[in-house]
Amino acid sequence: TRRAIVAANWKMNGNLTLVNDMVTGFSDISLAENVDVVICPSFPYLSEFSRAVEAKQLPSNVYLGSQNVSEQQSGAFTGEVSTSMLKEFSVSYVIVGHSERRSLYKETSTLVAHKVKAALEAGVTPILCIGESESERATEQTETVLASQLQPVIDEVGIEAFANLVVAYEPVWAIGTGKTASSEMAQETHQFIRQFLAQSNEEVAAKVPLLYGGSVNATNSEELFAQADIDGGLIGGASLKVEQFKAICLAA
Ligand code: 13P
Repeated sequence: TRRAIVAANWKMNGNLTLVNDMVTGFSDISLAENVDVVICPSFPYLSEFSRAVEAKQLPSNVYLGSQNVSEQQSGAFTGEVSTSMLKEFSVSYVIVGHSERRSLYKETSTLVAHKVKAALEAGVTPILCIGESESERATEQTETVLASQLQPVIDEVGIEAFANLVVAYEPVWAIGTGKTASSEMAQETHQFIRQFLAQSNEEVAAKVPLLYGGSVNATNSEELFAQADIDGGLIGGASLKVEQFKAICLAA
């Protein structure tokens, strides 16, 4: 059976007070044994979180993640952050190819594939985000779009590497809109993603944790997480409220 993962994507929100509230709130949480929690704040807050991780103020299944990473190792890339820098701050996961990075910062699936490769080479687990827009779903292009986002990564790192990777399905129309995909629709799409990966390697596909993201909250999380191919969630807005995020983690 696959582990469940609940990841907090704070996006460009939060502050030191929220970091400390989150550390306090999660210090005594009793997570199910097969559940991992990943907190992904903006880069400046990683060091404060890292101190809490190092000091064992957080349970051992609470991990730190970043929201982005450079595909480059080091050098003249102003404003970028490398995998080796992240590793100095206890970062175990990195969100790669979030729809906001793809649409607002023009990250292509090729660049995303290079970022996945850099993360894997450094031993940091990529949370690879994929998802269709509202018009793509309306015109029945969902499966084509998801395949076109996955294939460049398979081509770059090989399907076997997916054993060390997490995929997050986030329909763009459900992000920050309050419009969650129904659990049936989410399950159907997750099943497609797993089948698509299985075309390259069935054994690996069965092991990849598939997270759902898009307006997940403490009310809808339990039903979503109960679906056969939904192994947890990537949580935006609701991850900024400590009690609500804890409730979501406990639903996994
Ligand atoms: P919301 O939970 O705010 O819809 O955001 C989802 C998301 O984009 C997480 O990466």
